[in-house]
Amino acid sequence: MEFTGETAAPEEALKTEQALTQIRALGESPQDNYRVWYEIFVYSFCDSDGDGIGDLKGVTSKLDYLRQLGINGIWLMPIHPSTTYHKYNVGDYRAIDPAYGSLEDFRELLGECGKRDIRVILDLVVNHTGSDHAWFTAACEYLRTLGDAEPNMQDCPYVDYYNFTREFRTGYTQVSGTDWYYESRFSPDMPDLNLGSDAVRSEIREIMAYWLGLGVSGFRVDAAKEFYSGQTDANIEVLSWLQQTVTELKEDAYLVAEVWDSFDQVTRYYESGITSIFDYPFGDSTGKIIKVIRGAGNAATVTSFATALEKADRAYLGANPDYIDAPFLSNHDVGRIAGFCGGDAAKTKLAGAMNLLMSGSAFLYYGEEIGMTGSGNDPSKRAPMYWNPQRDSGTTQPPPECVLPESYPFGSYEEQRFDDDSIYNYYRQLIAIRQAIPAVSHGRVAAEAALNTGCVSAFRKTWGEESCIVLLNISPEATQADLSAYGNWALAASLSAEGSPITLDGATLTLPPYAAAVLLPAKN
Ligand code: CA
Repeated sequence: MEFTGETAAPEEALKTEQALTQIRALGESPQDNYRVWYEIFVYSFCDSDGDGIGDLKGVTSKLDYLRQLGINGIWLMPIHPSTTYHKYNVGDYRAIDPAYGSLEDFRELLGECGKRDIRVILDLVVNHTGSDHAWFTAACEYLRTLGDAEPNMQDCPYVDYYNFTREFRTGYTQVSGTDWYYESRFSPDMPDLNLGSDAVRSEIREIMAYWLGLGVSGFRVDAAKEFYSGQTDANIEVLSWLQQTVTELKEDAYLVAEVWDSFDQVTRYYESGITSIFDYPFGDSTGKIIKVIRGAGNAATVTSFATALEKADRAYLGANPDYIDAPFLSNHDVGRIAGFCGGDAAKTKLAGAMNLLMSGSAFLYYGEEIGMTGSGNDPSKRAPMYWNPQRDSGTTQPPPECVLPESYPFGSYEEQRFDDDSIYNYYRQLIAIRQAIPAVSHGRVAAEAALNTGCVSAFRKTWGEESCIVLLNISPEATQADLSAYGNWALAASLSAEGSPITLDGATLTLPPYAAAVLLPAKN
């Protein structure tokens, strides 16, 4: 019996050429990839048509909100057709899930983002596809026709797109109606792609070209550690290829990879040449930021923050001289930071400052700017954006099995927007400081030994001719810093976390509990 599945159409190559022409036609000035990126789970962000599910039009309707917050980049979690609410099992890489809207809605979103200097990156989920993807269903259909015969790629190229074997292994699932198994590390509905296949790589290149041609600025690379589970060198090779390929398509395209691993491993993965890797060693519930906040008031812990920043900068830079750090506090896979801060407003604010005063492309998970909490099962980490207590104005329904907290510690956006002391207004101020001082976002980092003492974490950032010094009081008590040796420096930005002002009296800088300050060289 002959298999009738289609092989890659010759028009495919043409499509890439068209996409490349489109990319060149965009003709934008090279983008600065040091941005404040806002991670959006479209499902839970804003619903424009009242069906309870967030959508692209909903995101577009909130762009002024995001601009006011100060962000200038958006990472959209997967928007392609999928059988799950989270959409990390992609059914078609070139389409928009109808629940989120249409390709026209996506173009409109990009257009409106462009007007506001907001760049958009998409989730690139290529460790695996959805089990309903045409490549996978064609391959399985072919295997069912085989009997005892060996598969032939000439008959069905898609058998080489996945990792099929006749021998059962851990992390594999049986192809129904056959004695074949396929690799499926995450779940049976997520068959792992064979990233060693030239045909698969060519497909990935086409997918990237397609979206870059529409105007996206790059991709967030999902699950890079699982490309070849447990094989770092092989994963690094794939990341190198991805970076090289995306740069060939669009010179300034931005890639940030998810490598959920230790400091040493993240450092190694930078050897791939990839621009950014999420800085898990600093973010999440086990990262340096929350550890230091939990150790607030302990001088050894507090001062270790600045030295850890210096160490990471040197290590990552040593592995990739063009690296851009990608700090974050929370994302859709981990509990929200406000919860780890025990609902304490000052600690939640300081955690935000520790993240956004790190160099690189800083990431902010939707709702973090209003101190939303959320932990437990995954859907509970992906709860509806809390726009207002009435839960209208585009508020979505919670995803399946999401457990909402009885209340949020700091209220909704609507309740916070006119409160100067709110988490929301602190974030606005913080992002404004980051955007206004290039050394904050771009600087090389070194602990400022003379000031990095007691409960003050102090570090200097240098970017070309520019520099700044950041001071953080990581303690529940007010503290002072002696600036007598810093006569040529001025207090440029103050972030008070609990109301009391930061004051400079002569050479004595008084930092209230959990306060942050930025010094800049005085103008002559
Ligand atoms: Ca909707």
